Amino acid sequence: MRIDILSAVPRLLDSWFGESILQRAQTKGLAEVHVHDLRQWSTDKHRRVDDYPYGGGAGMVMTLEPVHRAITELKGQRSYDEVIYMSPDGELLGQELANTLSTRTNLILLCGHYKGIDERIRQHLVTREVSIGNYVLSGGELAAAVVSDALIRLIPGVLGDATSALSDSFQDGLVAPPAYTRPADYQGWQVPEVLLSGHEGKIDAWRHEQALERTRQRRPELLQGGGNEGDATDR
Ligand code: SAH
Repeated sequence: MRIDILSAVPRLLDSWFGESILQRAQTKGLAEVHVHDLRQWSTDKHRRVDDYPYGGGAGMVMTLEPVHRAITELKGQRSYDEVIYMSPDGELLGQELANTLSTRTNLILLCGHYKGIDERIRQHLVTREVSIGNYVLSGGELAAAVVSDALIRLIPGVLGDATSALSDSFQDGLVAPPAYTRPADYQGWQVPEVLLSGHEGKIDAWRHEQALERTRQRRPELLQGGGNEGDATDR
């Protein structure tokens, strides 16, 4: 999978993709993330990528031309499955959408800034709009990082344990059961006996029961067959 992120503040994303699982995924050749500075496609002598809104009002709006030039150039190099605009009013990101998008080969993620982007970009260039929740961020970069992380960790081989992503919250319509590690007794705080028993069947049954109980308490809507799309962020 290749993800191209278009941003007016690309440095915001440097550390995110340079560390840990996301960095390893790239070293292993399982994912490629390219963060592009939209200013490189600006024809303005000050490399501006925003302008005052028509009709007046507060805040700047990202201009059409640099975004169009960037997307045209990228599309000239390979074909893209989607051009996704990160937007508070987009489709809410949930595990199902992450699963769907993780099977794509090439994606462009467009980050807005300021007051947003010229509506014509959304009308003519964007194929999908994704929100990470019903709140407003100051830029799309964090949202693009969230989406990229959620997708990349699903690519087979990215997580150390091949089954790990499948046992995470939401994948089976349940949240994850509690996890423990050593020591088994920390100043009297105990790990549940069953996890130390070595009895795989009992452990599986306990984990399932815990996951069910937690889902009942924390995300009852998952059990009502309401699907999980965006539910976790929508509460
Ligand atoms: N005026 C816009 C908000 C602009 S916020 C409105 O009211 O809808 C600036 C940028 O941050 C947006 O262009 C978008 O790319 C990004 N952004 C803000 N909140 C977001 C969210 N919840 N999910 C995804 N992107 C978001």
